[in-house]
Amino acid sequence: MHGEYLESVCGCVIAGAGPAGMGLLFNALKCGSMPELARRGLVIVDASPRPGTGRLGDYRVTANSVGDVFLDCLRDPALRNVFEPLERSPAYWRIRRQAQNAPQLADVAELLSEASILVLDFVVKHYGVKLWTRATITEIVKLDDEYHVWVESEGRSRRIRCRALVLNLGGRQDPQHLLDSLADQGLAVSPCTKVLSADALLRMNGVQLRDYFAATLAREGRVSVVGGSHSAFSVLENLADALEFAGLREVTLIHRSPIRLFYETAQAAVAAGYAFDPLKDICPVSGRVNRSGGLRYRALDIGREAMANGRIGKTAVRVQLLQTRQGPEGHLQSARQALAESEVVVQCTGYQPLLPAMKDSQGVPIRLMEVKGGVDSDACGCPLDVNGQRLYGLHLFGLGAGLGVDPRLGSEASFDGRIYGVWQFHHDASRAVIDAVIRRLQQMSLPSVNPNHNQSGNREEQPGPFLWPVLANAQP
Ligand SMILES: Cc1cc2nc3c(=O)[nH]c(=O)nc-3n(C[C@H](O)[C@H](O)[C@H](O)COP(=O)(O)OP(=O)(O)OC[C@H]3O[C@@H](n4cnc5c(N)ncnc54)[C@H](O)[C@@H]3O)c2cc1C
Repeated sequence: MHGEYLESVCGCVIAGAGPAGMGLLFNALKCGSMPELARRGLVIVDASPRPGTGRLGDYRVTANSVGDVFLDCLRDPALRNVFEPLERSPAYWRIRRQAQNAPQLADVAELLSEASILVLDFVVKHYGVKLWTRATITEIVKLDDEYHVWVESEGRSRRIRCRALVLNLGGRQDPQHLLDSLADQGLAVSPCTKVLSADALLRMNGVQLRDYFAATLAREGRVSVVGGSHSAFSVLENLADALEFAGLREVTLIHRSPIRLFYETAQAAVAAGYAFDPLKDICPVSGRVNRSGGLRYRALDIGREAMANGRIGKTAVRVQLLQTRQGPEGHLQSARQALAESEVVVQCTGYQPLLPAMKDSQGVPIRLMEVKGGVDSDACGCPLDVNGQRLYGLHLFGLGAGLGVDPRLGSEASFDGRIYGVWQFHHDASRAVIDAVIRRLQQMSLPSVNPNHNQSGNREEQPGPFLWPVLANAQP
């Protein structure tokens, strides 16, 4: 099926070097684990020509944390020399000057991209790490003790045999997922409705939004947004900002459970008149209200305004909030009608992981067990397949996968989703993964690789064999 291919063998493959994959690399340098991680060969594979930020910079939204949270990912004595050039970076200073405000994600991505280039250069040069850019992972085969990662690059197929695979290729929003979750509540969209993912909408500029919605607005067609998280409120804001003067009068927001707002303390929530459950909504470790599941910063402002006055931000566009589970009388019925009448429904109901085809040695497809908000995995991101088998050596924690709440770090009892975000990728989430990968590599039977210091400093591995190259013929 793959024709002729080159084969490489290594200890670990970092598949996908967006914020999640890069967070692990930053963290391995910070905690001194990079030599051990790279000792048996470490290959980074990413489809993009310039890995580091994935899609983060494409979203036209404000971050859900302050700038200092992103700076904290770069702040470490072990990285001081690596990041010295950032002192001359406009993106770094833009975020630093407003460290206590939430920056635009485009600015965050610019900073992370510059920092990622420095880190990638450094690990290639000092640890013999191989970086394959413009290389698309097409298939993963799980054998007893190793994974075979199939990669397409410049028209050629390559296979990497590895013992540990960190797989974070980003997320997707499957429309069927929305339809299924609506069906669970006895709701449905009309067959002629267009379902638009929040992921696509949040990457559109004003002109693109006006183009997309022009016909609907001309017919005074209805628009509904399904979901109650950060993305849903970002969608409301982007729609209202772009379309108010193109004729948008009202949007309906259909959400299953109550809209949750984040407060630093219970006192602050009480002072703001926000009703919460003192047992279920307060994190026992930090005392914060809705620490994991609450709207923050810009989304919080939009959410508060919507709940208090039924308006989107400072625009005149109205928003009708309908809670479908245990909501006020009539909400479920109104939601049913809104969905039936809507010309466009925007899906803001979370992500599923973007995965290549996965199969076992017999060719039987592997499907991962999903839970609310991501993949059912253990504390170090090892997933279960749908038969309940743990896939040791495979680790996911990025968009669409996430990790469960770590009780030592705390969360509110009412939060039952998965945790993911740039800071976690650079700290707790990747820490657990690094430890698990190193433990696994230490049991490795494959020969250890000479660190192979690359003095040339070439960041990108040019197509060609490495480690133990074998020109092999594909199995039929
Ligand atoms: C709208 C939105 C706003 C968000 N805002 C914040 C925020 O403010 N703060 C925060 O901390 N988090 C935020 N997040 C969550 C999360 O931090 C980001 O989504 C982050 O970009 C996820 O990183 P990732 O590496 O998992 O995925 P991605 O950013 O999608 O990166 C995936 C990487 O995998 C590569 N790839 C994809 N397919 C292949 C393939 N087949 N082969 C090889 N490589 C491949 C891509 O080139 C890319 O480099 C937000 C998420 C969304 C959706």
